[in-house]
This record gives sequence, structure tokens and C-alpha cells, in this order.
Amino acid sequence: MAKFVYYFGNGKAEGKSEMKNLLGGKGANLAEMTNIGLPVPAGFSISTEVCTYYYANKKTYPKSLAADVKKSIAKVEKAMGAKFGDLKNPLLVSVRSGARASMPGMMDTILNLGLNDKVAEGLVKKTNNPRFVYDSYRRFVQMYGDVVLGLKPVHKDEIDPFEAIIEEKKKSKGVHLDTELTADDLKDLVAQFKKAIKDKTGNDFPQEPMAQLWGAIGAVFGSWQNDRANAYRKMYDIPESWGTAVNVQSMVFGNMGDDSGTGVAFTRDAATGENIFYGEYLMNAQGEDVVAGTRTPLPISQLAKDNPKIYNQLDKIRKTLEKHYRDMNDIEFTIQQGKLYMLQCRIGKRTAFAAIKIAVDMVDEKLISDKEALKRIEPDQLNQLLRPVFDLKEKEAAVKSGRLLAKGLNAGPGAATGRVVFNAPDAEAWKKKGELVILTRIETSPEDIKGMDAAEGILTARGGMTSHAALVARQMGKVCVAGCASLDIDYSTHTMKVKGKTIKEGDWISLDGTTGEVIEGKVATKPSEVLQVLVSKTLAPKEAPVYQQYAKIMSWADKYRRLKIRTNADQPDQALNAVAFGAEGIGLCRTEHMFFGEGKIGPMREMILADTVQERKAALAKLLPLQRTDFEGIFVAMNGLPVTIRTIDPPLHEFVPHEEAAQRQLAADMGISYEKVHQRVEGLHEFNPMLGLRGCRLGIIYPEITEMQSRAIFEAAANVQAKGIKVEPEVMIPLVGNVKELENQEKIVRRVAAEVMKEKGVKFKYLVGTMIEIPRGAITADEVATVAEFFSFGTNDLTQTTLGVSRDDAAKFLIPYVEMEIIPKDPFEVLDRVGVGALMKMAIEKGRSVRSDLKVGICGEHGGEPSSVEFCHEINQNYVSCSPFRVPIARLAAARAALKDAPASTAKKATKKSKKK
Ligand code: PEP
Ligand code: MG
Repeated sequence: MAKFVYYFGNGKAEGKSEMKNLLGGKGANLAEMTNIGLPVPAGFSISTEVCTYYYANKKTYPKSLAADVKKSIAKVEKAMGAKFGDLKNPLLVSVRSGARASMPGMMDTILNLGLNDKVAEGLVKKTNNPRFVYDSYRRFVQMYGDVVLGLKPVHKDEIDPFEAIIEEKKKSKGVHLDTELTADDLKDLVAQFKKAIKDKTGNDFPQEPMAQLWGAIGAVFGSWQNDRANAYRKMYDIPESWGTAVNVQSMVFGNMGDDSGTGVAFTRDAATGENIFYGEYLMNAQGEDVVAGTRTPLPISQLAKDNPKIYNQLDKIRKTLEKHYRDMNDIEFTIQQGKLYMLQCRIGKRTAFAAIKIAVDMVDEKLISDKEALKRIEPDQLNQLLRPVFDLKEKEAAVKSGRLLAKGLNAGPGAATGRVVFNAPDAEAWKKKGELVILTRIETSPEDIKGMDAAEGILTARGGMTSHAALVARQMGKVCVAGCASLDIDYSTHTMKVKGKTIKEGDWISLDGTTGEVIEGKVATKPSEVLQVLVSKTLAPKEAPVYQQYAKIMSWADKYRRLKIRTNADQPDQALNAVAFGAEGIGLCRTEHMFFGEGKIGPMREMILADTVQERKAALAKLLPLQRTDFEGIFVAMNGLPVTIRTIDPPLHEFVPHEEAAQRQLAADMGISYEKVHQRVEGLHEFNPMLGLRGCRLGIIYPEITEMQSRAIFEAAANVQAKGIKVEPEVMIPLVGNVKELENQEKIVRRVAAEVMKEKGVKFKYLVGTMIEIPRGAITADEVATVAEFFSFGTNDLTQTTLGVSRDDAAKFLIPYVEMEIIPKDPFEVLDRVGVGALMKMAIEKGRSVRSDLKVGICGEHGGEPSSVEFCHEINQNYVSCSPFRVPIARLAAARAALKDAPASTAKKATKKSKKK
């Protein structure tokens, strides 16, 4: 019979950490901790297969489950020496979700299950602690009422109905803190909660523990499909089919008095990566108090002073876990009357800064290999390292002039500036209008996830470094200042008071997530440390620790990657940035971008509007020296690295003015009539310019353009070579679908190259190749490669032409397409491997069948997108080319792709091949 329930307790577990798919992360790690001898309260996990069954069978369970759960409860009872529903020695349990991938706070949890009116009385007798018992009971009824019985706030500005009852009670008693309420007050709250549940939902709060348990199990499985879990899964690509496990575990109590407590911690600092024990705890509290941020917890270092015995035990567990998992862990623990219990461990979420520091440190500590380090850093995380920080001077000035509003916890590093909004739906709506927003909340909850995603930064008044706001912001890579207690936020008026000032919705504020400062108004930002070292060169590497870690990761990436990384750049400064980021050549220089520069648009327009070949040649003669100078700049910047220059591509009408005034001005400049200019511009109009007179078609119809551009390229090459700088021009012909088109253009390029070499009395190496960006080019690649010495996939156009989707008009329907799951991702962002990818694969195979050393690259936007880079590696391309700032991402993605392969063989073979070229 299928096994659905896995027990853990008393030092032995049926599961282990490798069984995450079945037991979820939490269940698998509880089993693992039990097996390695850590103190874990007994319990059991109901597998994710039951979740799948539940949804496939109209929310019912496999037949054998009820008996298995009953048996497991009996085992837990035995291990804990307590009984479910017993009046003398009752067993209480928690019921929690636990998916394969962590989805913090997205699904439901119920604590203290097993309490009812009678059990509560029994427990009072046993513990002699009525306050603890009724505090636990009121928490249970509150959670159960919310999660299982559905009593929740209905409107975004409304406060939680249970919290409203508590607030009312505190007011009537004249107290401020929950802890000031007496046992009788709490008992009364239980009665009021139960009444509110009955009045508002029509449901009775169940008294029978087994009925409570099944209600909770159903609610947790049900929460796999709630709105926030669905939104979270979409955001992080977690398949719905995975399902969640349900963990039922005996309760231990952190709220049994001053010798009890609870906490959460990271085995290293999750924000900075520093190798210190980092966490927070609260005495006489339950876990939700720490995570929800309703009370501000103490730093774990305080525990070392207050209770060194427990602290040392915990610190030992920290080391055991790091050694065992060889990674930073995030843990939850509870101290019950002086005894420590572990309630959870999992690989800890971290910022990009921390991910890199921890990976680098762990290699130094010999805990992991450099390969492992690379696997642990997502290429997109590098974006965070390249992010802006505040201009320090401007920030100092802002602080000096009294604009520092408050200081909170530096929960998510980076600099953000935006306009204040006070709830998540507003954050989403404002973002849609194009505003930058700072989501400001008393505390966040999982419901706020979409608003947090829309915000530049997140600011909360309550909660610690491990509060919901802090955890989720770090995971999203958002700037976050949490627990900023001096903010007096009023949701109903959409204002907050701080330092005697009133900040209204829509006012600008700035967050320094690295220091925790909140500043009134806008503060200018400046480039990150990595950029200051590499790009502006205003910081020395030795003074830049983040840069040093970045550099190490990059050097490991370079050791393992097979793909070369080039850049798309049209200007020398862009090229220099890219080289600083590690680019090994230019994969695409779009020459048409150069025509918009100073002094060039005039002769360009003359060329376009010319009536005769002579007139056109005269205009081109003016453009020649300008282009040559540009190319010289690029060759010098690239200092011997290969440079792929593409002949002019887009439709000519893009270069001419369309408004009457500008056309009249142009006519005057050219000494011709306005009517003539107007007529010629009209003549250039195309119904479908993307499929019109562009790409190689232009150079074929107007060969003098290709001739001029080839001359500019080769003369620049000769001039730069004469200065002792190596040059390696690669002339690339765009939009080729027929080998004859390429032959036509190649002839011109080679003739001009020969002429220039002869005229200058020099020799230089060059290549002529083509872009593969329309399907016919790919399908006939064996013909095209007889002429082309290299291919570069123009996947922007290849996606457009393969899918028949206009790259400029697609957002309107592609966004809904993704939402409706017709397509998994925007194909202009992430390569469509099935369609476009198949054409690329075919083009490479056909191309190399006639030219075995055909060099193949990609220069569409996909060249800097990690999963597309992986695909380029898989189909054996030689290089990818991307925008300068994505070069580090591509380097890492290429290394990760190489490490994913059967490591040695594929990587080696490919290296040999590329050496031949
Ligand atoms: C492409 O089509 O992928 C490409 C790089 O060319 P462009 O974007 O200039 O059309
Ligand atoms: Mg193109």
C-alpha cells in the first residue's frame, strides 16, 4: 500500500533531507535534524502526493490516510508521553504547510491544536499557569477562526476582526500590551472569539481534537491554492503540480514563562553574509510573535549573556548544521522551561551580497568547491551588485538639513527613492501609472506580496530582521527598512507622523536599506561599488570588499565556462564598460545607431533623399570620415579583441523628419524645396517596415552604402593597426534569407577590403558573416554557410519572424498570454527553445555540415538572459553577446551551463574545437 505519512521522533525518522519532493522542505529537514541527533519534537509529515490526490479527487483523501494519521498520532503520543484530547496530560500539535520550495508565509499554519474548553481547564491544573493556557487557547481559536473557518478582514483598510476584539479589550482594561492582559481577560477573549466566529461565519468552533486536526489538514492543503500562494508560485516559477506536504508536530511552548522563549536565526548574516550567528528571540512568546513583528525581539547575542547554556547549545547546533548542509541555514527554535527544541531548519534565503560573500567564504573555509559556489549564485542576483547606492554627499547633506526622518533595521540593502503609499493594492496601481513607490506598512503580511513586488522599497514600523517584510524583501532583492518604530502610520487617512512631521500618500521619501535610514524627499543615487571600481574607476579594488568577492566569482566562472562572452556596443565608452565587465569582443555594433550622433544626421538625410547615384555618393563621401572615426574609436577601445560590425539595418524612413517644420528646415539646409523633401519622405513610407526595405535589402538596392561602410571599417582597421593595435574586424550582413543576398554583399565587402589593403599597403585579417534572423536563413543555413564565415543569431528578429509576432506591438497580448499560461514567458525576453531554438539548432547543424569551423554567436537580447545563455551553451555556440551591464550575468550563466553538463567531456571537446578557429 502506498505510504503517505512519514513519522519522526525520538532520534529516528522515516524521511531524510533528500526527500523534499515528497515531504516538502520543512518535513524533509525535520526528519534530517532528527536523524542527526538534534532535539526535534516528535511529529509526522503527510506527503505532497496526498496534496496532488486531494486536488485530483474533489478535495478528498486517499482511503488509507485516516488510519495512517491515527497511527502516527499514537506514535507521537507515545514519544511525548501525552495524549491527544487528554484532560490530565494533553498533547497539542502544530499543523504547518511545507512545499518543496520554501514559500514563506504564503500558506497556512495552525498552532496549539488539541485545545478545547475542557483540555484548557485540564492544562491549567497541570501547569498551574492559567495565563499561559488561555494565551495559547486564544491564539489557537484566532488562527483556526481565520484559517479554517474563514473569519478575515474584508477590506484592505480594515483591521483583523480578532485584533479588533483584542484592541477593544485592552482599551477597556486601560492597558497597552497583550502581555498586560490577565488569564481571565484571555479566557474572555476566547469566548468572544468563538462568538464572533459563530456570528460572522455561522460555524461553531469545533471542540473535538481529531475534528480540529482534520479541519486544519484540509485548510493547509487548501491554502496551496490561495491567491497569495498562486501569485508567489507564478513569481518564482514554482509548478502547481508540486503540491504541499502537511507537517503535524507536537507543540513545545515558548510562552510558558520567563524560562521559555522562541527565536529565529541564520547561521550567518543573511543580509551581509558575514560569518556571525545572526538572529532574534523573545522570551515568554510564541514563534508568531517574532515573525509577525508584533513585539520587537532581542538580538541573539543577548541570549549569550542572559542564558549562556542555551546559547552555547544553539551555537553548537549552528556549527553542526553548517557542516552537515555545507550552507547557511535559517532555523527556528523554542525554549520550553529551559530546554531547547529545534522546530525548523532550511537553507537560508539571502541577499545577492550575502550569497556571494557566503559562497566565497565557504570556498575559503573548504566547506564547498568553487564549482559549488557558482551553482549557488543565480546569475540575476548579480544585478543587485550592480545597483545604485546613494550619492553619499547628497545623503549627508539631506541628513544635516534635518531630513532624516527615522532609522530602522537595514533589512534589504541598496538605495531606493519613491513616493509613499500605504497599502499593497495602491502600490500596484501607482506602479502601473509609472510611479516609483515606497510601500509603507505597520507590518507586512503575505497578502502584500504583489504590492511589495511593485515597490522600489519597503518600509515597516514594526518587526525585526526576520519579519515577513525583511525576509520577503531580501528574497525579492528589494530595498527594505524594517521595524522603524518611530513611524506613526494611520491607514485610514493615508498619512504617517514622524518627528513631528506628517508625511502624506504621494510624498517622496528615500530608503537606505544598507544603513536603515529613512530620509524625507528624493536623494540622488550613484553606481554600486563594483561600478565604482570597474567603470568610473573612483574606488580602488582593495578598498572594495564586495568588488573583491565579485571578482573571485567571476574568475571561477571564467575557469569553467566554455562560451565566450561578447557585448553589443556602438560607442567606445560602452565598449570600455563592457570590457571592464569582462567582455571578450563586440558581438554587435549597430552602425545605424552611429548615424544619430553629432554632425551625422545631416549627411545621412542627404544620402537618403538623394535623387541620383551621384548625389547619394556625394552624401556618403561626407559620412565616410565620420564613420571611420567612430570605428577607429571602437577598435582602439577593444584593443585587439574581435569586433563584429553590422552593415546598416533599419528602414531609412526612421532617419528622416516627419513633422512639417522639421521637413522645411531640412529642405532649407539642403537647398531643395520643401515639397521635394515631403514627397521623398512619403515615398519611404512602408506598411510593414520591419518586413520592408531593411537589412541586407538596403545594401543590395543601394550598394554604395555597403561600399562606404566597408571602406570606413577597413580604413579604420588599417589606421589603428598602423598604431600597433591589433584589429580583427568581422563584417556582418543582416537579415539574410537567401545565400545570393549574402553573395551580393560579400562581393562588395571583399572588393573594398582588397582595395583598402592595396591603397594602404597593409594586410589585416577580417571575416565576413551573417546574422541568422529570419527562418529561411536558418532553414537554408547549409547554403548560407558556404559564404558566411560566421553566424550570429539575431533572436529579436528571429523570434519576431518565427512567431509572426511584431516585436514592437507584442506587449498588448503577450502579457495576457503569459498570464493565461498560453506561453510560459515573454519570448522576447526568454528564448523560445521549442520554436526559435529548433531553428537555431538546425542552422548550426546545417551550417557546420558545410563549414566545420563556422563560428556561431547570438546578439539578440537573449544573449544576456541566463536560461537563454544556457541554451546557447547546449547547442554548442561559440559565444553570446549582450549589453555591457549583463556581461557578468552572462559569464556566470555560461559557467553554470558548463557545470550542468556531463562536466569533463562536453566542456573539453568544445574547448578543443574552438581553439582550431
Ligand atoms: C536581432 O534581431 O536580434 C538583432 C540583434 O538585431 P536588431 O535588434 O538590431 O534588429
Ligand atoms: Mg535584427
